[in-house]
Amino acid sequence: LASRQSKNEDTVIRVKNTVIGGGTHVMIAGPCSIESREQLSAVANAMKSEGVDVLRGGAFKPRTSPYDFQGLGEEGLKLMKEVAERAGMVSICEIMTPEHIALAAPYIDVFQIGARNMQNFELLKAVGRSQKPVLLKRGLSATIEEFILAAEYILYHGNDQVMLIERGIRTYEKWTRNTLDISAVPILKLETHLPVLVDVTHSTGRKEIMLACAKAALAAGADGIMVEVHPNPQAALSDAKQQMDIGEFQAFWKGLRTSGLFH
Ligand code: PEP
Ligand code: MN
Repeated sequence: LASRQSKNEDTVIRVKNTVIGGGTHVMIAGPCSIESREQLSAVANAMKSEGVDVLRGGAFKPRTSPYDFQGLGEEGLKLMKEVAERAGMVSICEIMTPEHIALAAPYIDVFQIGARNMQNFELLKAVGRSQKPVLLKRGLSATIEEFILAAEYILYHGNDQVMLIERGIRTYEKWTRNTLDISAVPILKLETHLPVLVDVTHSTGRKEIMLACAKAALAAGADGIMVEVHPNPQAALSDAKQQMDIGEFQAFWKGLRTSGLFH
């Protein structure tokens, strides 16, 4: 179902006034975790005034250590709804279990399936039966074929609004957080009709190369970019090192738009 053989025209996903896929580019920005009303509103207002209309932020955080901040849960979803609606933005939050679907549905516009759950097949089936668009992240060590088959689960169970996002894979390389597999972009575009995005934050973990990687992603055919932005990254409760502050985002965004690659 994901393949170009089964459907040749590009899947275009429309959420509120935002169009994803089909030749226009989308920028998704927001904090790693939703931490407070003040934090989320500061990012949302800054992004909105820059012309970004998709806001991300995690309420359920898949943390490596059980002692790390796990997210605000439903309280975070409530903040996302309030802030995104006030700013007139589309909202994206990760869900981690099938139970989160009904819990999160009233609050958000797009479900994100994180890298760690790319092969959580019961979750894939459950979002397949849901009505909202799904942003599916590539697993930490997933092959492209496994990634496409994970999307296939969602499509097979009835939801055709699926977007793929390359977020870097594990390799032996230590100078980046993950290895951005840029070749996945044109392959996914050739093999599937789904929108393909690139998360330059989790794939690199390095702010100074995010602009170059975002340009490479667009040049390779990506339909959009995701980045993490926090009003005060040093104080962030997760991914403090890799989140851009608002000024850093503005420079990144200006660089991307003036490159002519983002349109
Ligand atoms: C995220 O985008 O919030 C996240 C946890 O990323 P990933 O699932 O790609 O690690
Ligand atoms: Mn993060």
